[in-house]
Amino acid sequence: MARLFIKQRVLTPGPVDVPPAVLLEMAQPIIHHRTKQFQAIFKEVSERLQRLFRTKNPVLSIAGSGTTAFESAQTSLATPGSKVVVVAGGKFGERWQDIYDQYAATLGLTVVKLNVPWGQAVTAEQIKAALDANPGVSVVALCHSETSTATACDIKAIAEVTRRSDALLLVDGITSVGAMPVEMDAWGIDCLVTGSQKAMMLPPGLGYVGLGERALARLESFKPKGAYVLDLRRWLKSWQKNDVPFTPPVSLIRGQRVALEMIEAEGLENVWARSATLASATRAAFQAMGLELISKSPSGSVTGAFYPAGVDDKKFRAGVRDKHGIHLAGGQSGRGAEWEGKCFRISHMGYVDAGDTLAALAAIEAELRESGAKIAPGAGVAAAMKGFGV
Ligand SMILES: *Cc1c(COP(=O)(O)O)cnc(C)c1O
Repeated sequence: MARLFIKQRVLTPGPVDVPPAVLLEMAQPIIHHRTKQFQAIFKEVSERLQRLFRTKNPVLSIAGSGTTAFESAQTSLATPGSKVVVVAGGKFGERWQDIYDQYAATLGLTVVKLNVPWGQAVTAEQIKAALDANPGVSVVALCHSETSTATACDIKAIAEVTRRSDALLLVDGITSVGAMPVEMDAWGIDCLVTGSQKAMMLPPGLGYVGLGERALARLESFKPKGAYVLDLRRWLKSWQKNDVPFTPPVSLIRGQRVALEMIEAEGLENVWARSATLASATRAAFQAMGLELISKSPSGSVTGAFYPAGVDDKKFRAGVRDKHGIHLAGGQSGRGAEWEGKCFRISHMGYVDAGDTLAALAAIEAELRESGAKIAPGAGVAAAMKGFGV
């Protein structure tokens, strides 16, 4: 048989596939950023970002990755000399702990680490207990959707308890904004961050920081210490003039305008529902294949499963990629768990539909069977089809 053409589908939880309309827009000639033309594009992007974040307050676009954006929020909003509470139940929460450790001496911070077992979500009760036990906390930082463990917490309930204190809530929404319901103003989230290569349907290179009223007031309450490029005051001052303090990735910002236009044309609630449906159908498929999910509180944007005994991670993911064109992520290891080689993860964010998901599930099933797993042919795909109502 002739070798079949294989379409490539990037279903890693970042980066994700970029829609052709966005790629075309990014191929437009470079324009200078100190021009009316750029400022008009930037203004439209900022307004669309505010609708995406569900806020009437500023959403800053910062060159760099999601980590750049979150580090800028961490360093700009923690009051020098205060305590900060940082939650970790996976690789990214651990990174936010590391960043505060890095700044602890410069900013005089006491870092209170709240660790939960990987695959479990931190609860509002645990946050409240940490705040009660530690007077003088200026920031609570955590992930809404912890991508390394495909786990989501109840950020609405957490915002409710945090708002009763003077602590600001810094939310890593990098795999939730644009994929799962997040209501920045209505839920009272003080700072919400995401990155371009996740549900924003863009290549990597931009981070976004939404600032609520309490966060804006915090920025005015003390002089910056320890950061220059990452000092949010600088970005905010420019933003108020539809501008950026440093040369921006112009092509990405142009592309972001088109990607946000696509999200609004579909309807944000419809985008959330699409991701949720893909996620629940994937969970049903994994269960039908006899796989154990890695999360006790699954995220709506990414799903992970442990391998059955005898499956080699590298061989499995290479097979799924080289024979089927499906790009999956593996497991990650950190202080809380060693999941590298033990599980795989698939994304439901951005430019992805039921057909992409079914293609991935068929490939996963085929390669697991190839590795000796006892799965009835079509079991996972049939369960997912049922989830799609087909
Ligand atoms: C991807 C991701 C990050 C890191 O973002 P970078 O763009 O790689 O810096 C942080 N947190 C979460 C939850 C993520 O999914």
